[in-house]
Amino acid sequence: MVQTDLSSLTFEELAEALKELNLPSFRAGQIYRWIARGAFSFEEMSDLSKDLRNQLSQRFSLACVAEETCQVSSDGTKKYLFRLADGNHIETVLMRYEHGNSVCISSQVGCNMGCRFCASTLKGKVRDLTAGEMFAQIAYINRTDPVSHVVVMGVGEPLDNFDALVTFVRNLSSPKGFGMSQRHISVSTCGLVPKIDALAALNLQITLSVSLHAPDNETRSRLMPVNGTYSVEELLAACDRYTKATGRRISYEYIMIHSVNDTPRHAELLAKRLQGKLAHVNLIPMNHVEEREFSPSSPERLRRFSDLLTARGINVTCRRKLGKDIDASCGQLRARFERKPKN
Ligand code: SAH
Repeated sequence: MVQTDLSSLTFEELAEALKELNLPSFRAGQIYRWIARGAFSFEEMSDLSKDLRNQLSQRFSLACVAEETCQVSSDGTKKYLFRLADGNHIETVLMRYEHGNSVCISSQVGCNMGCRFCASTLKGKVRDLTAGEMFAQIAYINRTDPVSHVVVMGVGEPLDNFDALVTFVRNLSSPKGFGMSQRHISVSTCGLVPKIDALAALNLQITLSVSLHAPDNETRSRLMPVNGTYSVEELLAACDRYTKATGRRISYEYIMIHSVNDTPRHAELLAKRLQGKLAHVNLIPMNHVEEREFSPSSPERLRRFSDLLTARGINVTCRRKLGKDIDASCGQLRARFERKPKN
C-alpha cells in the first residue's frame, strides 16, 4: 500500500487524510503539532497509544533527514549534508545573526535552471523535494539551535517546485504548527515570471528575493538561461505586480562577477531600472566554483558599484560572507561529496 506522507500535507489535508482511521477530530491537531515539533516517526508521538502509533505507521509516513556530515565554521555557521530517505543528498546551512538563527534550505535535489556561475545546477535536477523534506531540514536543526528565520536559497529553484513550496510556507507559518511569522521567511527565485504572479495572488507576507545579477538582457542572458524565456523587463514588471499585490519590498540579489556585471555602466543602468521602486539591492561577493569560468569582483570594484547605487538613492547592502572556511555556497558541498570516490 502506498503510504501518504502526512508531513507534506496542509492541516486541512491532514485532517481529511486521517478521517479514514475514524479518529476524534482533536487527533489531527495533535499529530500536526508533533510534526511541527520535529517528529520524524510516529513512534516519537508519546501521547498517542501504541496501537494508534502502529496504525498510523502502517498507513502513513513522515519525511525525515539524516545527518551525513556537518561542517562548523569559526564564525558559528554550520553546513549540513543531509541524506534523504531515497539516498539523495541535500545541503542546509545554519547562519547565526544578532536577530537569531537563520536556516538556508534546499528546495530540490540539484537544479535545472543552468545559471553559469552556480554549482547546484551542474548536473541538472534529480527531483523536487516534498514540503515535508523542506520542513525536515529546519526541524532537525531546531532540535539543537532554535530557528527564527528561514531562507529558501539553498540548492534548487523554489518556484519550479511551487505547490510543495506553498504548502511548506503555510505549515511553517501556521499558528497550529511551527508558527514562524511569514515575515521571517524569504524565498529566492531566478525569475520565473508566471510563478511570481501565482505567488502574488496568494498574498503571503514572505519576502521575495529575485536573483537579478544584471540590469540588461545581454549580460543577464550570458549568466542565466532563464533570461531567454523571461527578459529583464518582463521580470521587473512581474516584481512590480508582486509589490502592488502584497505591499512587500522586493530584495534584488546581485552577485558581483569580475568584469562581467560589475562596471559603472551596469551600476548606472541598475539604478535607473530600480529608481522609485520599493526595492533593495543585496550585493553578493561571488563564491568561486571550480567548474565555472567566472571570478569574483575585487573589494574595490564592489565598493565602487555599491557607492554608485547609494549615490543614486538605491537601498543597498552587501551580504556578509559567513562560513568562508567551510565549503562556501550552494551546491558546493553536495558536488564535492558526490565527487569523492565511494568506498
Ligand atoms: N534558484 C533560486 C535560489 C537558489 S540560489 C535563485 O536563483 O534565486 C540562491 C542564491 O545564490 C541566488 O541568488 C544565486 O544566484 C546565488 N549563487 C549561486 N551561485 C553562486 C556563487 N557561486 N556565488 C555566489 N552566489 C551564488
